[in-house]
Amino acid sequence: MLREPHQILQDVFGYPEFRGNQEAVIHHVMQGRDALVLMPTGGGKSLCYQIPALAMDGLTVVISPLIALMQNQVETLNELGITAAAYNSGTTPEHRAQIHQDLKEKRLKLLYLAPERFSAPGFIEFLKTLHINLFAIDEAHCISQWGHDFRPEYLKLNKLHDLFPHIPRLALTATADQQTEKDIIDRLNLGYGTVFRASFDRPNIQYRITAKQNGVRQLVDFIQSEHPNDSGIIYCMSRKKTESIAEKLKEKGFDALPYHAGLSPELREKHQQAFIKSEKVIMVATIAFGMGIDKPDVRFVAHLDLPKNLEAYYQETGRAGRDGLPATAWLAFGTQDIFKVRNLMNLNQPQDQLQAERHKFNALLSYCEALDCRRIHLLSYFGEQSEACGNCDNCLSPPETEDTTEAAQQALSVIYRTGQLFGVTHLIEVLLGNETDKIKEFDHDKLAVFGVGKDKSRQQWQALFRQLVSKDFVAQDTDGYGGLSLNENCRSLLRGEEKFFSRKQPYLKQSGGKDRKQVQFKSDADQSLFENLRALRGRLAKAADIPPYIIFHDKTLLELVFQRPQNLQQLSRIPGIGKNKQEKYGEVFLELLTNEG
Ligand code: ADP
Ligand code: ZN
Repeated sequence: MLREPHQILQDVFGYPEFRGNQEAVIHHVMQGRDALVLMPTGGGKSLCYQIPALAMDGLTVVISPLIALMQNQVETLNELGITAAAYNSGTTPEHRAQIHQDLKEKRLKLLYLAPERFSAPGFIEFLKTLHINLFAIDEAHCISQWGHDFRPEYLKLNKLHDLFPHIPRLALTATADQQTEKDIIDRLNLGYGTVFRASFDRPNIQYRITAKQNGVRQLVDFIQSEHPNDSGIIYCMSRKKTESIAEKLKEKGFDALPYHAGLSPELREKHQQAFIKSEKVIMVATIAFGMGIDKPDVRFVAHLDLPKNLEAYYQETGRAGRDGLPATAWLAFGTQDIFKVRNLMNLNQPQDQLQAERHKFNALLSYCEALDCRRIHLLSYFGEQSEACGNCDNCLSPPETEDTTEAAQQALSVIYRTGQLFGVTHLIEVLLGNETDKIKEFDHDKLAVFGVGKDKSRQQWQALFRQLVSKDFVAQDTDGYGGLSLNENCRSLLRGEEKFFSRKQPYLKQSGGKDRKQVQFKSDADQSLFENLRALRGRLAKAADIPPYIIFHDKTLLELVFQRPQNLQQLSRIPGIGKNKQEKYGEVFLELLTNEG
């Protein structure tokens, strides 16, 4: 018996329309065919297998890498009135027995499995006794050694094709460059499958990059002025830094928690749960945090250190705004941050790998230094063409640029004339013509370049050096003194064969403020209704011990404010309110709406 996908979308999920190629994917797998779905975070991958699971007889098996993710999905499905279970290393023997029983009696529609289950003795034989209609392989890039989330257990999934030749396999991921994509197809043996590719653009995310002066203060300003009551993630490179930044934010009155691999598993779990279950916890984390976090209302992702490449940056910033509401990706960087990443590169790896790593980092830097639309840079890196977006710092306040070729040559020259031994601070003093003790000690006031840069400010010179380092014209010695030296490729600039452009205002202006896209309430009454709906949702979530967004997303609450339904029928037309949720929560929300409406 087949049920109609569109009807399920409306009845169960409460959404009137499919998005992008969801419907095509659903029909495709329901015809028993394999597919690879490439869709950005928040694009709506889960529905691509959840709807077939409900439309077809039998059981859909979902392979997912992380326990937290599985639990979250199962909770979400149960709230929708769908029978689903997760089976992983954390499942108790009693729960296991229950799942077995439910499977035997065909009570489950979806079963979430960790990939390592497939190596457990007898498990495959057990699966063979079930009526499976589809294998969904979530986070499919984990099968590729090229991706940064490679998980050896995923390699076992290459047997699915032989073991279950008649059951369609649907691989899904939000991160796949061409190499990874090919790898997924090869390893899962999806040779005859179809690739469904959605645009990777995340239009609701505003990309912003700023020159670091005092990073922490800039970060605090940013959060205070734009996201004072929001949930966000701040990425830092070191464990120590996550703790010190979390401490500072707490002093400023924010609900901030650190997260890194050095914390005990209990504490990590505690912080993660606090983050998921609250509407305004800020997680200050190393990159150990994030995968498998499905929280839709993360309103900002901030970087206080540079990611290694654009893939990592895009994946990390992509955790903002899954619900489609406005969100910010904010990054601050300076010269030292660039050296920090470059100097950490492993020189003992094979040359071609090192070369690739450098190349990818340089691509990230040219994105950071870009003077035009950031989204065009990002999307073109992932092979997509686009137009100026109107929702990045460079689009919102286009930087004025100037030809700084001569100044760049002076900067290279001061490095050379001082023997390629000194750091940025000293070199700038020489250019500015300041008679510091160090300058006198080394007779640097006798050099021709002494004082040639008086017409520029210290900050302008700092920005210029950062740009030279970004372009890899300049290196830093790793002997501990941090002296700058010239790289071979700066010759064309020195000879004047290459031009060098900079922003006139090195202090990148904050482009949030009034230009910022955000939810606009028409009146104070609307705003206060929204707060009250949020509070009601919070109480219900707390009582049920589930994250608030599993009850309703902010987007659904906003629709309630804008449409103010006055009866159950009107309520049922609000996106995100399916039958089950209407039955469960309709009355209480209507009570609030009719009282305030
Ligand atoms: P992904 O797994 O691709 O990151 P999800 O499957 O979690 O994304 O979907 C992101 C959000 O979008 C979810 O809250 C989901 O309910 C919502 N969503 C998915 N499809 C639709 C649709 N057709 N209409 C409205 N909302 C949708
Ligand atoms: Zn733009």
